Amino acid sequence: MATERTLALIKPDAVESKIEGDVLAMICQSGLNILAIKKVKLSASEAALFYAVHDGKPFFADLTSFISSGPLYAVALEGENGVVSWRTLMGATNPAEAAEGTIRKRFGKAINRNVVHGSDSVENAKIEMAIFFSELEYVK
Ligand code: GDP
Repeated sequence: MATERTLALIKPDAVESKIEGDVLAMICQSGLNILAIKKVKLSASEAALFYAVHDGKPFFADLTSFISSGPLYAVALEGENGVVSWRTLMGATNPAEAAEGTIRKRFGKAINRNVVHGSDSVENAKIEMAIFFSELEYVK
């Protein structure tokens, strides 16, 4: 297995519910290494850029207004099989379908309030991480 980097977001619903510490604890206990973390509030246009792949879908407006509705944490992660490892810990997009022990099963309230984001490929991870971090900010 390869060591991979990926981007996690702890979304505004998690910050609003004050569970970002619980999510970070699950990340640390999973063995994924946090390379960098920052608290950010996205503008509407930054949110639209981040989720450009979903432009045109019926939930795009809800998605971009939600992700820009309050502060979130961007977290750069690294680990063995990092992209899939983080997505496995996140759980299914719809919390109702998420497996036991996952973040979305534990904390997610609905498909559009599902607590965390994770890149879906190494290629997209590179693009998404560069939105929030420069290489100089990564600390092993
Ligand atoms: P993820 O990679 O598991 O976050 O899922 P996607 O990349 O497919 O979708 C991005 C985000 O859009 C998800 O985390 C959901 O919050 C939201 N989303 C996805 N599908 C739907 C949907 O059918 N309805 C609504 N309201 N939101 C959705």
